[in-house]
Amino acid sequence: KAREPAGQPQSQGAFDVQAVRRDFPILQERVNGKPLVWLDNAATTHKPKAVIERISYFYEHENSNIHRAAHELAARATDAYEGARGKVARFLGARSADEIVFVRGATEAINLVANTFGRQFIGEGDEIIVSHLEHHANIVPWQQLAAEVGAKIRVIPVDDSGQIILEEYARLLCSRTRLVSIAQVSNALGTITPVSEIIALARGVGARVLVDGAQSVPHLRTNVQALDADFLVFSGHKIFGPTGIGVLYGKKELLDQLPPWQGGGNMIADVTFEKTLYQPAPARFEAGTGNIADAVGLGAALDYVERLGLERIAAYEHDLLVYATRGLQAIPGLRLIGTAAHKAGVLSFVLDGYRTEEVGAALNREGIAVRSGHHCAQPILRRFGLEATVRPSLAFYNTCEEVDLLVATVRRLAHAKG
Ligand code: PLP
Repeated sequence: KAREPAGQPQSQGAFDVQAVRRDFPILQERVNGKPLVWLDNAATTHKPKAVIERISYFYEHENSNIHRAAHELAARATDAYEGARGKVARFLGARSADEIVFVRGATEAINLVANTFGRQFIGEGDEIIVSHLEHHANIVPWQQLAAEVGAKIRVIPVDDSGQIILEEYARLLCSRTRLVSIAQVSNALGTITPVSEIIALARGVGARVLVDGAQSVPHLRTNVQALDADFLVFSGHKIFGPTGIGVLYGKKELLDQLPPWQGGGNMIADVTFEKTLYQPAPARFEAGTGNIADAVGLGAALDYVERLGLERIAAYEHDLLVYATRGLQAIPGLRLIGTAAHKAGVLSFVLDGYRTEEVGAALNREGIAVRSGHHCAQPILRRFGLEATVRPSLAFYNTCEEVDLLVATVRRLAHAKG
């Protein structure tokens, strides 16, 4: 039997994880004859019954297109959809629901900003700063924009722990910096970046800041006004909501200055063959019929998370992360990548003598789901001389016993080579 890692999470008693687990039907699944252990939460999260039932209720009682038709179901669907927008606004601490644009996910939100803010405010010789930690979704749209308008991309380096180097960032900022686009939590390493300081420094040169909250919003309380973020993006499916729905937050005065991206229905005020007048934000950025039911489902997911309490979630997950880190670090031949003092949710490692996919396959045989690969963040893995890692990632429904099983399975592999 594997040695028990020291120190059980402090908050386990305060947080009734078994009650929480009963809210997630899929956690009862068996994989290869074993109970499912879902440690792939950075890729996507599972959905509580409250979300699944809310989406069913929408299709059973409210389904209609929104805004355009003046009948009872259109009114119900519109209320549900706009109600979800209000929930997102409250969840993020936005000034108003008009600052919330529904999109497909974080990727689409960043592309929207690149194609609107980017085309409007970034020109030849201007600079966009990203960090070495970014997901490809926060690299490629800026490369595309830079190639189109002749802008340059500057990259904030990270230290050996996987934390960005603030002094180097301060040196990159200059009068040509138009935008800083930065993840609040790295999906590959779990590093929590100092976003408040990053935004404060950007103000010194008048640059705007986009916060990629895909990995932070599900785990840490986020308040866009306290942060003073200009834009913040996240994906519904990583916060216990449906796929195909996500959020772009933008300051109202900024959104109002931006041109639309896609054209079509919903986003117009008036159309003639000569000229089209656009709606104000957020409708201006929501061309065509949106993902109405899943926006409503996202609203239910945020309600669920708020009921548990993000502060309690963060405390529980932090203790679980410390517990898992101790357990994995004690395994001979295991190298943990990303050892910053401030981390959330993600462990990334390689194991001597094994390809990462071999570790992933061995874990899968025990019913444990992790991601092994480049995690759509190749630059940061290459910074550590790697093409891939094994990445267990945590959520509040994970338990110490699941972590013990992970650690025991990896330890067995290590001993088999050792
Ligand atoms: N940004 C980060 C930090 C991510 O982890 C992800 C997804 O893994 C994304 C952006 C893209 O999210 P999506 O694929 O849901 O659009």
